Amino acid sequence: MASYVEAKIDGFPLKQLQPAKFSNPQFTASGEMRATVDFVELRTLWFNTGTLCNLKCKHCYIESSPRNDRLVYLDTNDVCSYLDEIGRLNLPTEEIGFTGGEPFMNPDAINIIRSTLLRGFHVLVLTNAMRPMMKLETPLLELRSQFGKSLSLRVSLDHHTQSLHDSERGDGSWEAALTGLQWLTNNDFSVSVAGRTLWNLNESTIRRDFANLFAEKRLSIDAYNSSELVIFPEMNPNDDVPEITAACWKTLNQNPANLMCANSRMVIKRSGDDKPHVIACTLLPYDTQFSISESLADAHRSITLNHPNCSKFCVLGGGSCSTRRDRAPSK
Ligand code: SF4
Ligand code: SF4
Repeated sequence: MASYVEAKIDGFPLKQLQPAKFSNPQFTASGEMRATVDFVELRTLWFNTGTLCNLKCKHCYIESSPRNDRLVYLDTNDVCSYLDEIGRLNLPTEEIGFTGGEPFMNPDAINIIRSTLLRGFHVLVLTNAMRPMMKLETPLLELRSQFGKSLSLRVSLDHHTQSLHDSERGDGSWEAALTGLQWLTNNDFSVSVAGRTLWNLNESTIRRDFANLFAEKRLSIDAYNSSELVIFPEMNPNDDVPEITAACWKTLNQNPANLMCANSRMVIKRSGDDKPHVIACTLLPYDTQFSISESLADAHRSITLNHPNCSKFCVLGGGSCSTRRDRAPSK
């Protein structure tokens, strides 16, 4: 009996996930003990500032769009209450990440970033570098002058060609992202680029092609440095992926302490909720089995890897959203 169904996405064949997989939190479909990840320490705290976005990309893992507000905007008070808790608990957190949606659509974006930098954290903002960011040129330049390289921005550029980037993100998005990227590098911001493996290209080809683009556009970004060009594995929830068992750590020679959910958490506010709460990681905002607690103090439980993203993105793909490459598996 075939264990998968052949299908195609953007012309590439894929195998559809067996329904029996990822259905039991404790055991895999073959009856083995599912892998878990123990929490080590909070190195990075992420905030999802809201799922609204100026784009509606085809493969957005969080399904953002100009209409999706399933995760509502966080405000400065929401964020500061967690930053204060980090201080009270004396946690070793150095990096605060902001993701969306498009974080610069949040009306409190600049206040939130400034409040975080004032507390001495390193800030990483994931952005598409388009109109919502460019509308904030003046306050962003002020932040750069005041805080220098403590503020980093990571710009999504799915592919080095306009045609494939636009096929994912919409006409004109490549040109606008490059304009934003050029503005950031010309103004000496700390910038990295997030590319993707969506078109089944190998990493060395992706790096070579981005290096040519960066040279042509005179962008001071080193495509061969994995901190400056981060290449993310894909997460298609319908793709067939192996389940990760407790025995896999040894077989794969992997240390679970290197996974994002061992060293980070994300704060979200779901539409209809009174308060924000803490979830396991950036990748699973809608799956309530990864919701943990209201406070950071209670956010240290082990995480059971009961989702295809755990397998495809983190364990087998080596993905991590943080800048802390030393603590993430190699990409
Ligand atoms: S820009 Fe990012 S958040 Fe917005 S739709 Fe595209 S992938 Fe999703
Ligand atoms: S998706 Fe990755 S970081 Fe999130 S819970 Fe699964 S393994 Fe951990």
